[in-house]
Amino acid sequence: APPKPRVIYWFRTDLRLHDSPALKAALDLKPECLYPLWCWDPHYVYRARVGPNRWQYLLDCQSDLSASITKLNPKSKLFVVREAPQTLLVKLFKAWRITHLVFEKDTDAYARERDEDVMKKAKDSGVEVIVKMGRTLYDPDELVKANGGKPTMSITQVQHAAEKLGEVAKPIPSPESLPDPGDITLDFEQTQPSPTPDINEIQRDENDKSYSKLAGPNGDFSVPTMSELGLKPATTQHRGGETVALRALDEIISNTTYTATFSKPETAPTAFSPQSTTLLSAHHHFGSLSVRLFYWRVMDVLKSYTKSDKTTPPTNLIGQLLFREMYFGAQAPLGYSYAQTHGNSHCRFIPWHLPSEIEPSNGLITGSYHIDAPEAGTWFHRWKWGKTGFPWIDALMRQLRQEGWIHHLGRHAVACFLTRGGCYISWERGAEVFEEWLIDHEVACNVGNWQWLSCTAFYSQFYRCYSPIAFPKKTDKHGDFVRHFVPELKDFPDKYIYEPWKAPIADQKKAGCLIKGDGEEKEGEGEGGVKIYPKPMFDFSARREICIQAMKNAYHIGLYGDHPKVKDGTWREF
Ligand code: FAD
Repeated sequence: APPKPRVIYWFRTDLRLHDSPALKAALDLKPECLYPLWCWDPHYVYRARVGPNRWQYLLDCQSDLSASITKLNPKSKLFVVREAPQTLLVKLFKAWRITHLVFEKDTDAYARERDEDVMKKAKDSGVEVIVKMGRTLYDPDELVKANGGKPTMSITQVQHAAEKLGEVAKPIPSPESLPDPGDITLDFEQTQPSPTPDINEIQRDENDKSYSKLAGPNGDFSVPTMSELGLKPATTQHRGGETVALRALDEIISNTTYTATFSKPETAPTAFSPQSTTLLSAHHHFGSLSVRLFYWRVMDVLKSYTKSDKTTPPTNLIGQLLFREMYFGAQAPLGYSYAQTHGNSHCRFIPWHLPSEIEPSNGLITGSYHIDAPEAGTWFHRWKWGKTGFPWIDALMRQLRQEGWIHHLGRHAVACFLTRGGCYISWERGAEVFEEWLIDHEVACNVGNWQWLSCTAFYSQFYRCYSPIAFPKKTDKHGDFVRHFVPELKDFPDKYIYEPWKAPIADQKKAGCLIKGDGEEKEGEGEGGVKIYPKPMFDFSARREICIQAMKNAYHIGLYGDHPKVKDGTWREF
């Protein structure tokens, strides 16, 4: 008889036990042993920007998953091995006498490259690889095929393509038991150090030599803590993990009216405790909640809800998931070019201000074609750190930094303000800040939404700008959101809460906060310990007009990122 399978189940974008087609495929092999594995990938340390809040979220997911695995089999857990998969896995194949490697399909550009490398190495080692999709409702590659081989750039395209693919697969229940892992000794550890730098080399405390081991400081492959990783504590209250995610889902679904009548444009971006949307995005990102499970539970509610106020895509909850599909389907065929303008056939080229202080960090997108604006560097800095002098924008950016999540329309507001509706700075710079601070950061969704908001792809109505004054007033006349996140302004009269610079000096004094300076003064620097909040960094209406005119010109030139003149920086000849 052939030897019984010995399987590595490689967890990546699927930190859950429920509805995991890949995990099911691994268990269907009826393995003699199954190693639940996580390996630290240096890519996410060197190239991706990850702030403490997302790290914490990841560790929450890992700890919860590990505990759930142990519940099903006391001998097992999530084995966190501190080395890059490209070098680690081949060693594990040999050390653990592995016959099969199983993982969830990932269509991100980097992930494809990594997985191809791993698959080739597995083949060379005689290990069979099984890959299953489970991260989206449809396999993005299949969605693209059904869309005529083109990236999905609208919800209608997604809907048409989805029709061809048939019904979304039904969720698979969690396993009731898990096989034992095999022996986990790693005797290669001392003799063959990884040629690829691993996370420990940049994150660990220099004095803590024990941490250089693949198995972690306790030698037991446990999930690291923030302090072991040398990271600052998280500031967000949002917690990750499958247990939290399933509980949150139950709560949402139990509110039938909310679920059946959800309409995204009607949800308030100013609601923060609780927020007005589901807050499930980070769970989807880490795979601690299956999108298919969410989809089917919402569909069940919709089927049984008979009142006329039931909502439909694209504004309802199903519609929200379709937007997610759209961005994955846009990214899948474009690869690395999707996440930048340079070389991107689907992203409009706009000659944004290029503040000299802001060095494009990936080195690909710099060029002589940008209009220089000396103030733009300061604008970018003030936007990022919540000191623009526009309370609505500052409150959102501070919520983002503090909590790692902001409402979709709040994201609209700050993204429009940074790009075509205020600062005229490239969406790429904004997307980098979101990448660092969001707990739900997903390349496909972040990049796609930034392109949408900057009118470089997906959306083109650049004359529709969000006012940082009128927009939040619609749902928050009293300015509670601003008062919470910009506490300097908490005692301002409602009348001035979105435009504090208009308050007479007597009102400013009464509210204990003076409107002056450019955001560089420290709190309490004013006379008598009075707080200080900056003046607006520009006249918004004037900037809006300038931006709209500039966008008009750019649309008229009509270049896309893959145009040779964009690539070589000679677009001015047009
Ligand atoms: P809900 O409104 O409750 O929606 C349910 C689910 O649908 C979400 O959990 C999410 O998985 C999905 N979804 C909803 N809206 C979108 C959308 N517009 N695009 C893609 N998926 C969507 N979302 C991310 O998941 N990661 C990102 O990095 C990200 N970056 C963004 C950047 C900008 C500039 C903008 C404007 C939006 C971005 N979004 C991103 C999309 C959206 O804002 C968030 O998905 C949403 O706010 C998450 O909150 P929620 O879970 O309460 O959403």
